[in-house]
Amino acid sequence: MLKNLIPCALILMMSVKTTIISAQQKPYILLSGHTFSTKNSEIGTLSIPGKDAKFKISGDNVSVFRLKKNKLSIRREAISSGPKWYDLNVSAETAAGTMKETFRILRDEFNRNTVIAHRGAWKHTGAAENSISALQHAVRLACQGSEFDVHMTLDSALVINHDPSFKGKVIHSTTFAELKQLKLSNGENMPGLDEYLTEGMKQNTTKLVLELKPTISKERAVQSARKVYEMARSMKAQAWIDYISFDYNICHELMRIDPNLRVAYLNGDKSPEVLAADKMWGLDYNQSVFQKNPSWIASAKEKGLTINAWTVNDPKLLQWFIDQKIDFITTNEPELLLKMIKK
Ligand code: MG
Repeated sequence: MLKNLIPCALILMMSVKTTIISAQQKPYILLSGHTFSTKNSEIGTLSIPGKDAKFKISGDNVSVFRLKKNKLSIRREAISSGPKWYDLNVSAETAAGTMKETFRILRDEFNRNTVIAHRGAWKHTGAAENSISALQHAVRLACQGSEFDVHMTLDSALVINHDPSFKGKVIHSTTFAELKQLKLSNGENMPGLDEYLTEGMKQNTTKLVLELKPTISKERAVQSARKVYEMARSMKAQAWIDYISFDYNICHELMRIDPNLRVAYLNGDKSPEVLAADKMWGLDYNQSVFQKNPSWIASAKEKGLTINAWTVNDPKLLQWFIDQKIDFITTNEPELLLKMIKK
């Protein structure tokens, strides 16, 4: 009896494993861009990795858009005035059946002033780092982006916090419900990623710079990248988010799921050549890395990589990076940097 049960159990385990892997590798309809502006009516290209598909658009806003083969654009008359965004339904006929997706196509009014508020704007506002109000202050100040840190909890939920632990609770071994009981220094609860994105998506002037933190194993890191991607996709938040991580496995996994994502690497140990070969969007390095490797600024620009330096707070250093004409400067002093840039 037992002899028969063991092979059965093995087969069951193998089939469960196969199911998990295939669920993780579910293909998505991808769109290479999610914004339009007065300067740009081309939205992007639709695709499904590894599949041929015939795409169709539908829904309330279908008349606003034009789809030529797989290239999506917005009609000129819809650009000059109208809502902040349009939701558009896309279906794809593939050999395996029909797939559906809804995309939020955003009016791009993002500030272009290089200023990224590090963990939001908290230092001079009374907000706690990484709180919803720190994000609101960064938006009010008109920063180009507001950076925040994401960890995965024991029960695979996503929360916003800088350190791997908070008030003695280690995030990866604590449940979401337990963490939600803890108060930040300004009385707010620790935000979940869904709440944070919901707040950020109320506006279209400040980008959301999502740092996904390294975790205890490669498996958990890859899982956290998939969870974050799935939440951003289901909330239709793609237009708002730039991704950053110290963990190259996370950067790779995000790019594997969707090669159109804007993913920058934080750890400072890879040259622009390596990042460009891996098709990363940019390098987002500690300011000291650029001081040690000044040629990396020119070579990153030449390779079309975006450049971000962190965390630059000293006025002289801020001016040095302004003079280098890099894309973004991450700072705890967004008010000061905004003033310096306006001069
Ligand atoms: Mg961070």
